[in-house]
Amino acid sequence: MSMADGEIYPRDPDTFDYGFPPKDPQVVGDCPTCAELVLRRGKCRAVNNRSGASDMNVLLREHQDQEHMTPEQRARTVIL
Ligand SMILES: [Zn+2]
Repeated sequence: MSMADGEIYPRDPDTFDYGFPPKDPQVVGDCPTCAELVLRRGKCRAVNNRSGASDMNVLLREHQDQEHMTPEQRARTVIL
């Protein structure tokens, strides 16, 4: 824990995106779903829609958890 001490969030602070520092999921390989979500995130940012961009990151992480993670990576993420 660092800057977020004292704040209560329902998610693992190591994986939850507070917006600082920005740690965006990136496109994996040539996956069209990743590319679509990253494109939509960029469009949200272009109009200063930060919550929309954050939503895209959530969708990206969920998608990448399901489609791009090895079982070992997934297990590491689930264990808090
Ligand atoms: Zn993908």
